[in-house]
Amino acid sequence: MPENTPNNAPETDRPTARRDQESPSSSGPTTPAAAAPERRAREEVQRTAQGHHSKPETAGATHRVVIIGAGFGGLECARALARAPVEITLVDRHNHHLFQPLLYQVATAALSPGDIAWPVRSVFRRGRNVTVLMATVTGVDTEARLVRTAEGLALPYDTLVLATGATHSYFGRDEWARFAPGLKTIEDATAIRRRLLLAFERAELTEDPAERRRLLTFAVVGGGPTGVELAGAMVELARATIVGEFRRFDPRSARVVLIEAGPRLLPTLPKDLSTYAHHALERMGVQVLLGTRVTGVDASGVQCGEERIAASTIVWAAGVVASAAAAWVDAERDRAGRIKVAPDLSLPSHPEIFAVGDTAAVTDAKGRPVPGNAPAAKQMGRHAGRVIAARLAGRTDPRPFAYRHHGDLATIGRRAAVVSLDSIRLKGWLAWLFWGVAHIWYLIGFRSRVVVSFEWIWGYLTLQRGARLITRSSDARPEAIAPAEPAGASVPATIEAARRTA
Ligand SMILES: Cc1cc2nc3c(=O)[nH]c(=O)nc-3n(C[C@H](O)[C@H](O)[C@H](O)COP(=O)(O)OP(=O)(O)OC[C@H]3O[C@@H](n4cnc5c(N)ncnc54)[C@H](O)[C@@H]3O)c2cc1C
Repeated sequence: MPENTPNNAPETDRPTARRDQESPSSSGPTTPAAAAPERRAREEVQRTAQGHHSKPETAGATHRVVIIGAGFGGLECARALARAPVEITLVDRHNHHLFQPLLYQVATAALSPGDIAWPVRSVFRRGRNVTVLMATVTGVDTEARLVRTAEGLALPYDTLVLATGATHSYFGRDEWARFAPGLKTIEDATAIRRRLLLAFERAELTEDPAERRRLLTFAVVGGGPTGVELAGAMVELARATIVGEFRRFDPRSARVVLIEAGPRLLPTLPKDLSTYAHHALERMGVQVLLGTRVTGVDASGVQCGEERIAASTIVWAAGVVASAAAAWVDAERDRAGRIKVAPDLSLPSHPEIFAVGDTAAVTDAKGRPVPGNAPAAKQMGRHAGRVIAARLAGRTDPRPFAYRHHGDLATIGRRAAVVSLDSIRLKGWLAWLFWGVAHIWYLIGFRSRVVVSFEWIWGYLTLQRGARLITRSSDARPEAIAPAEPAGASVPATIEAARRTA
């Protein structure tokens, strides 16, 4: 049994005192008088949570693994533990696993949310040792080994896997978020779709040419893969899909501006591919602004130093920061908030806790940081699962985590993409085909593959998009496309974190 495996013993052999005693919680110190009812309440929810683990099919499997996050890392970790003698509780604040690489297609009305998201529960329908809970984690009590949720649960764990991903970073200007949403969730995508489509509808209503120009201006901040894909898809929507549908203006007059603070687009790709992407976007009608820092964002547009871009729709694709997981477990973290992990992906201060995916800071064999992308998250999730299973079986841990980079891809538009594999670089139509097949391959389930393939072929042949719905559910805020006074902050927009891999 490896030295750093305090949880390998069966539950009954382990001291339980720590779980029974009053322990520091994320909600701060408790007075002795208040402690007793609180403890009783906690034990109650604990019993409730433990009830999830008492299924007869898995009797005897007592090691409790709680995985927070059903993204790429969390899902893969749960799958890797499918045959291990463990009870897994997979907690996510959403009821679905989301294929983020195609979110931009939902935001631009090419795909529907259901095409790229799957109920986590259905993914593990046959996984008898997996209990799925839809709950929002608010903290971890590392002393008592409890995961706390906003719903009042306290989930006991023997091994904990943090797979909570990343979120947008506005570089300290979080007030920009309401005017320039980022793209991370289904709600984000449908909110952006709403703003985009509503802008065209409002442009048909207005008599004022200046206001129409503003309504038909779309700004994307950040020239990484997401920014490039969004800008390309937006311009195609305006210049191909909806042409001929409006009577009071020509949608081809829409202006899509891609703003990047750095010297080139797609900075993680070889320079020739990034130059190709730049020229391809310009040919499609996107205005690319390089070396341009965003200094203000408000409801009526974007400020870039002296230059003002009046825009109705602004999308933020400029920065990401890790989830709050590092704070929950008081772990050492890097500048992006990612947890610094040991070579086996566990926390040096807590070997029973693992961090995987975008929320972990890992370096490869050459000391380079592992990028925040889907394959890296999956590889980490799988590795953490193997380490946990090996420990439980009393085997030595597998070799340290080693990231395998498959390549970098980005699509620019219909028939244009860039692909950089080990020894092969592709661009144009062939790269686009490669990108499409790779993404279809990684979708979950036959239905999604068929539906997405059909939508793409249909869109390719007809230029139409099947999901042009304006819904109010996720973004009914009036500031979405309404003008307001400009703001004057001065913070650079940096390039979106490197992350595109085949
Ligand atoms: C728009 C976009 C496009 C992308 N395109 C690509 C691409 O083309 N190729 C590529 O390789 N990568 C791409 N990425 C990056 C890739 O999606 C991420 O690197 C990957 O999803 C990371 O996996 P993860 O498991 O770490 O986190 P995620 O997949 O983000 O999963 C985290 C999960 O944790 C849950 N969670 C978070 N906080 C809590 C909480 N407090 N309580 C409960 N649950 C919580 C979330 O709901 C989520 O389900 C893209 C990302 C985005 C946003």
